[in-house]
Amino acid sequence: MTFIEQWLRTDIRDIKAYNVPSSKNMLKLDAMESPFGIPENLQPDFLDCLKRAQVNRYPDANAEELNTTIRSLMDIPNDLGVLLGNGSDELIQLLAMACNSGDLIMSFEPSFVMYEMISKFTHLNYEGISLNENFEIDLDITVKSITSKKPKLIFIAYPNNPTGNSFDNEVIKEIIKSTDALVVLDEAYYAYSEKSFIDEISNFPNLIVLRTISKIGFAGLRLGILVGSQGTIEQLNKLRLPYNINILTQASANFLLKEKKNIHNNAKTIIDERGRVFKELSLISQLTVFPSQANFILVKADNINSLNEFLKSHGILVKSFKDGSKLKNFLRITISKLQENNTFLNCIKDYYGKS
Ligand SMILES: *Cc1c(COP(=O)(O)O)cnc(C)c1O
Repeated sequence: MTFIEQWLRTDIRDIKAYNVPSSKNMLKLDAMESPFGIPENLQPDFLDCLKRAQVNRYPDANAEELNTTIRSLMDIPNDLGVLLGNGSDELIQLLAMACNSGDLIMSFEPSFVMYEMISKFTHLNYEGISLNENFEIDLDITVKSITSKKPKLIFIAYPNNPTGNSFDNEVIKEIIKSTDALVVLDEAYYAYSEKSFIDEISNFPNLIVLRTISKIGFAGLRLGILVGSQGTIEQLNKLRLPYNINILTQASANFLLKEKKNIHNNAKTIIDERGRVFKELSLISQLTVFPSQANFILVKADNINSLNEFLKSHGILVKSFKDGSKLKNFLRITISKLQENNTFLNCIKDYYGKS
């Protein structure tokens, strides 16, 4: 055993690192990134704004201007508090750090993998309640499980990743009412569903909402947003590292997120394309295609590995799932702009011998 292997916590040593596949020269439809970069007409002013950033100084610790910009972009009411993170992943970690060691984090299976990974890093237990065949929540099973296992934190991705559906909002309200846990509605795909629990925060003291700018064109900036009552945010803010939002992210996001119209138009384009890609995929009889309220679509097929290899060999990267996982027969495809979606559609039609 090497020094570090014997020095390290054994549970960390045994974790498999989060794997990001190489995507050099590939059409990247695996990670829910936006295909839209910075519009050309904005680039000179953007560079100017970066030039003015004083990188020799620490950034604004409270990122005040950025708070205002984010509130305006996401229509966050003034009576709620906002906590910014270096990606929403950092905020998930911050919430886990607020728990006692040995507490239980609960979510659903399948859902976002970081909930479980972060619970491991932070000495917490994790329980994923199985979704039914249509990837909906079984309320009875969930409430029974909450009552017997008493989770401290419950994550509900809304819409869910990787399935793309939004759970029934009455079911979610019943879950919030049934528990003393802090319930986190993870609205990473809000721009593509336009359904939110932000307006419910004032009704439920145990509810907070997580957002991110990663899925609307700014994954590279790493900026996540936690929204809760002022009191909740004030307490959680104690766990935030000072200066966690760096000066270049603050400057860039302040400049770029003021282009609300542009951001909304891009989201609209993706929603339209999602409808078109869904229809086209549904015509392929070998595929089961799942309706989505996010910027990706989940499909199921026999011999999915062979389809995935075919796509890969044609330079298209989509998300596949591990052999042991419940989703081993599925692929998750990020919706991109028209031309790229067509490249993907032509390739998959080719595979099934339809073009
Ligand atoms: C992508 C994703 C995130 C991660 O967002 P970052 O802000 O990029 O860390 C969080 N939650 C869900 C459900 C996601 O799919």
